[in-house]
Amino acid sequence: MDENMSANQQPEQVAKDVVVSIEYTLKVEGEVVDYSDRDEPLEYIQGHDQIIPGLESALAGMAVGESKEVNVSAADAYGEMDNEAMVQVDRSDFPEEVPMEIGTQVQVRNMDGHVLDARIAAIEGDQVTLDFNHPLAGKDLLFNVTIVALRNATEEEIEHGHVHGDDMEEEFDDDDFDFEDDEDEDDEFEEYDEEDNEAENN
Ligand code: ZN
Repeated sequence: MDENMSANQQPEQVAKDVVVSIEYTLKVEGEVVDYSDRDEPLEYIQGHDQIIPGLESALAGMAVGESKEVNVSAADAYGEMDNEAMVQVDRSDFPEEVPMEIGTQVQVRNMDGHVLDARIAAIEGDQVTLDFNHPLAGKDLLFNVTIVALRNATEEEIEHGHVHGDDMEEEFDDDDFDFEDDEDEDDEFEEYDEEDNEAENN
């Protein structure tokens, strides 16, 4: 075979450094919780930790047009529930505008200055339990995936570990410029300090 031709060939199956386009539906406990937008498949580079490991390994070797049902156990997805990620906070630490309802999502700044997502998991008297676990922690995930397209990643994409757009515009992203992460948003509601909190509970 012509060398030039083999170098430019589209990959025939999902393998490392291949840009994979997938359509997917994600079900948890029988309910659809996520799916790819119509006409806009999810694109990722195989072998670069861009999607959960249990799904990535199940897709290896698949060809365009193939579909598969993939069951990923919690441990290979977002991990098991971590009881240490449940933290009690005084109700008075919340600003008034935060609804005191189970399921309310809040953002909390920790000691390192990182903003973390949490949900109100319980309210008892003036004690509010915040759950810092990922919303899908402890859940088994059922994906229905169809491979829509495969192409070889460019050297730049492999170096960056993510897919670049296919238009001619220059790509701007965190790896191209040294921007800080946008963690200084002003919607966190308190200076959160886990050690202080534990001390208060003792
Ligand atoms: Zn990039």
